[in-house]
Amino acid sequence: MIVDIETRLIAPHGGVLVDRTGERPEGVERLERVPLSSRELSDLDMLASGALSPLEGFMGPEDYESVLESMRLADGTPWALPVCVAVDEAPRDDLVALADESGRIRGVLEVMAVSPYIKEREAEAAFRTTDAAHPGVARLYDQKDLYVSGPVTVFERAEPAFPGLAKDPAETRAEFADRGWKRVVGFQTRNPIHRAHEYLTKVALETVDGLLIHPLVGETKSDDVPAATRVECYRVLLDGYYPADRVVLSAFPAAMRYAGPREAIWHAICRKNYGCSHFIVGRDHAGVGDYYGTYDAQLVFDEFEPHELDIEPMFFEHSFWCRACGSMASAKTCPHDKEQHVFLSGTKVREMLGNGELPPVEFSRPEVAEVLIDAYR
Ligand SMILES: [Zn+2]
Repeated sequence: MIVDIETRLIAPHGGVLVDRTGERPEGVERLERVPLSSRELSDLDMLASGALSPLEGFMGPEDYESVLESMRLADGTPWALPVCVAVDEAPRDDLVALADESGRIRGVLEVMAVSPYIKEREAEAAFRTTDAAHPGVARLYDQKDLYVSGPVTVFERAEPAFPGLAKDPAETRAEFADRGWKRVVGFQTRNPIHRAHEYLTKVALETVDGLLIHPLVGETKSDDVPAATRVECYRVLLDGYYPADRVVLSAFPAAMRYAGPREAIWHAICRKNYGCSHFIVGRDHAGVGDYYGTYDAQLVFDEFEPHELDIEPMFFEHSFWCRACGSMASAKTCPHDKEQHVFLSGTKVREMLGNGELPPVEFSRPEVAEVLIDAYR
């Protein structure tokens, strides 16, 4: 592990934590405005905070091509997904204002290149499918036809959805360092945490100093559990079942792309910037529908040399309560028949919660289930 001398934590991706925040330049209102989609706006905010280090702006054609082709930036640094902004036509000037959906100017982009791109090709490389029914592909197909690229400067950050949970990479790093942590495992989630995922995080935590529970609160599909409900679930779970001095809860401001394997790599790299030395990769990480094989998001890590990513992936199986073991277990650790395992399908759980019924305590902590029951009402 390459260590940051000051904090003793893992070094950011590419070595230096990027900071693209800055002063609002004079006359910014007179610049041509590029309106950003919500996905582009969350990327902009992550560029500002260094969550996407070493990127300093929206990717140019060389990096874009190289990422699609080989999951590496043009200089060879691992990188899994395009981070681009799309426009209808080439800007007239070499500096443009970046505006959110309401027209508010958030930052500027120094235009280095304007380039056409082939949506189907990007879909196939990044999402492994060109099917427009895939939510990430659908969003890509809806984009404008040209990418504009160059370094950005952000002078008005996006308002965090959960201010108490908004921590930039510099802030999580400072917090880990204050607590004396060196090895920290990051856990990405976009769902409430039930016993199975609680188990994974705790098994991982047994081997390191601290745990970052880092739920994604950017844009997700409309049928995912709303972020506010999930945040409440995380709070009651942590209050009741995790030692406060070993866990940091913070929101990950990214928009979900549903790119499965490549998104798992991208998520890991981002967490390295937040100071995580380890990253939990479960089955079907960042997947959607049946576009990806169960283990694709774990296997894709083999496409990198050992230590090339530096952050260490920790792969997990499905886990469950086993009555015969009398504990949480997985296929790796339990020799008993399926009948001994407490299993509930997602549909069954939603049905129970919708009827105001608590799932078995072996499946879900009652405090978490209560929050979900209230939300379903
Ligand atoms: Zn068992």
